[in-house]
Amino acid sequence: MALIVQKYGGTSVGNPERIKNVAKRVAKFQAEGHQVVVVVSAMSGETNRLIALAKDISATPDPRELDVVISTGEQVTIGLLCMALKEAGVEARSYTGAQVRILTDSSFTKARILDIDGENMRRDLDAGSVVVVAGFQGVDEQGNITTLGRGGSDTTGVALAAALKADECQIYTDVDGVYTTDPRIVPEARKLDTITFEEMLEMASLGSKVLQIRSVEFAGKYKVKLRVLSSFEDGGEGTLITVEEDKNMEQPIISGIAFNRDEAKITVQGVPDKPGIAYQILGPVADANIDVDMIIQNVSHDGTTDFSFTVNRPDYDKAIKVLEQVKAHTGAREVNGDRTMAKVSIVGVGMRSHPG
Ligand code: ADP
Ligand code: ASP
Ligand code: MG
Repeated sequence: MALIVQKYGGTSVGNPERIKNVAKRVAKFQAEGHQVVVVVSAMSGETNRLIALAKDISATPDPRELDVVISTGEQVTIGLLCMALKEAGVEARSYTGAQVRILTDSSFTKARILDIDGENMRRDLDAGSVVVVAGFQGVDEQGNITTLGRGGSDTTGVALAAALKADECQIYTDVDGVYTTDPRIVPEARKLDTITFEEMLEMASLGSKVLQIRSVEFAGKYKVKLRVLSSFEDGGEGTLITVEEDKNMEQPIISGIAFNRDEAKITVQGVPDKPGIAYQILGPVADANIDVDMIIQNVSHDGTTDFSFTVNRPDYDKAIKVLEQVKAHTGAREVNGDRTMAKVSIVGVGMRSHPG
């Protein structure tokens, strides 16, 4: 008997028929004698709909209230899946993030998991129930609802697997594994049977959304056996995310190509070129909870330099506001940017030891 955590993404629970199919798959695993914890996303499109709804009310929604709204999508799917499981003759119990007590920090809309209480889940599992947990959400020390960032149900799945010391975490999605690049954009992309944590981490951080980056970080840190599989096809092995040392075969030089179409570039022009200037610019950006991606500093002319970096497009306006203040403090000449950037990246551990 194994303990398996299965995560089903938005498309996989996108309508009642698909939810019933998920129930069938879960029932099959349980019938084979396994204990199953299921994590579900909201139905596909639902989180986008909720965000749009909030933006219809306020251009800059209060983050705490935004999390109250956008966490509801997953509450619907846990209830529906439990009903479907009961219809299929399987005992099941749903849990919101707060009911499990997935404790997070208070960074609304991008909270980090601090602790998971496994007690309720273990009790239900031991009593023969399937446990169904809402992805993407948690609760902070004060009892506020938090969410984990877009695509965060992957992280819920892996974090539960780590907390429960599950034998495997299976990420069921709408493709049958991890490909050399997004198969929806490049039909010639090849499916990978295995990929190292390191490469998967790079793919995820460079824009490939098949797994949320934090889920890969978690899996690497807590040695969770992680597999990406199709929820629409039976029998496939999917892609196993492996520890590099396990592989004795020579690595291919390049394992994949990732892209991100949602970047924005910001340039602070004419800043004094002296030690500490990067901190003066990026410190306030970090304080505003904005992730910075690529950073470039030009050669200096007449003691000043240009400092460019990229952020996620949704953070662009907020970052520009912060930098207008930085401009005043540092004596920079100008702050400008471009909100329509894309980034293409080549990924592969083999590149470390191959010139050219
Ligand atoms: P889910 O709703 O199940 O979480 P996502 O839409 O978040 O699914 O992630 C699956 C999607 O990731 C695929 O439909 C595919 O278009 C995209 N994708 C991007 N890069 C890759 C890749 N290298 N391999 C497989 N899928 C990828
Ligand atoms: N429903 C959330 C989103 O759309 C979380 C997830 O699906 O992983 O981002
Ligand atoms: Mg996803």
